[in-house]
Amino acid sequence: MVSEIQQKREQFVLRCFACKTEFRIDDYGKFYRCLKCGNLLEIKRIADLSSSKSPHAIASYGVWNYFDLIPLWNKSNIVSLSEGGTPLIECRNLARSFGLKSLHVKFEGLNPTGSFKDRGMTVGVSKAKELGYKIAMCASTGNTSASLSAYTARAQIRCIVLVPKGKIAMGKMAQAIAYGAEIYQVEGNFDDSLRVASEICERDNKILLLNSLNPFRIEGQKTVSFEIVEQLGGSMPDFVVLPVGNGGNITAAWKGFSEIFEDGLGGLLGNQLGKTPPMMIGVQAEGAAPIARAFKEGRKDSIEPILNPQTEASAINIGSPISWMKALAAIYDSGGLADSVSDEEIFSAQKLLASREGLFVEPASATPIAYLARIASARSDEFDQMKDSVIACICTGSGLKDPNALLKGVKPDQIQTISADTKSLEKVLA
Ligand SMILES: [Zn+2]
Repeated sequence: MVSEIQQKREQFVLRCFACKTEFRIDDYGKFYRCLKCGNLLEIKRIADLSSSKSPHAIASYGVWNYFDLIPLWNKSNIVSLSEGGTPLIECRNLARSFGLKSLHVKFEGLNPTGSFKDRGMTVGVSKAKELGYKIAMCASTGNTSASLSAYTARAQIRCIVLVPKGKIAMGKMAQAIAYGAEIYQVEGNFDDSLRVASEICERDNKILLLNSLNPFRIEGQKTVSFEIVEQLGGSMPDFVVLPVGNGGNITAAWKGFSEIFEDGLGGLLGNQLGKTPPMMIGVQAEGAAPIARAFKEGRKDSIEPILNPQTEASAINIGSPISWMKALAAIYDSGGLADSVSDEEIFSAQKLLASREGLFVEPASATPIAYLARIASARSDEFDQMKDSVIACICTGSGLKDPNALLKGVKPDQIQTISADTKSLEKVLA
């Protein structure tokens, strides 16, 4: 058993995303950035698995289905709520009205705490347990705090969350309270909350920071791509459209597809040899779109943060995305693009997805549909490129997380009151 653990440890390295300096993986938490150049760290699997056995060893479905591809050494440290294994739903009604051939939604709102964050958090908290941490912390616009507090409750690790005051959806706040997190509201926005959390965790090595700059989170989240390829019958989609806030999601999804393509996982996951990874399309809200702006300006190595980000899609109300460098790399390396949509387009796409396909997602999750609706109605060049392709949208969270955002747009006379008799009902139905 010991040798098996040692063997796995040797298959992964912790390294700088920018300068590629390597560090010992189990030292993570003593530092969060490259000790040489200060950039974010990533985990790279260096073993060639092309001739190894199937990774389907531990669970019948979900994140831990891919245990061999995740840098956790000991299975006994797994902290799980059966996350992942979410459906990939073909949206024929929407595809028809947009004029697209093949449109799918990976509905991540069906994870245990209602968002995609659970994929990363099961790995992040399992690793915290493996490294012996007793306290975990995050800054959050809501979903991260809900997810972290659920997994730490299960692991019985103390959980501290920082949220921007007045900028977090009610459902998400209720979750963190229920799971027993210690919650502090920061007078400022998400970016301020993350700055404070990072500074404390860098100073106090007893607290592990579990924001998406934590590369173990990315390692769990990348499994969304493994599942999409499996659900498409072992084939890559042509385009993946997803919301972008802090940049961790697009980073992880791209890492998953790249690993399938480059690292010899093709055989394991059944990817048709030679089919290239999808083009990644990151969609932001207009009031919080520093990555979309950098892309439009053709920048690769810098972004201009937005000091006062403003969007009702609270999950992506982030002006200074911590993973911007990785997110831009995902977009450029995949030949994809970044764009932004207005709050009005977001809310209309949210209603469209719910009323045409029966999928109720939170506002941020509707950004991919808003983007597709726009290019479809404009019949733009992007639309021409996509219309005969296989498109997968990653819809990150459940609509039940943030009912107020939707109800705000409901007109007072939209729901009529009637007397308790059939005549009254007949009258309004006529
Ligand atoms: Zn470096």
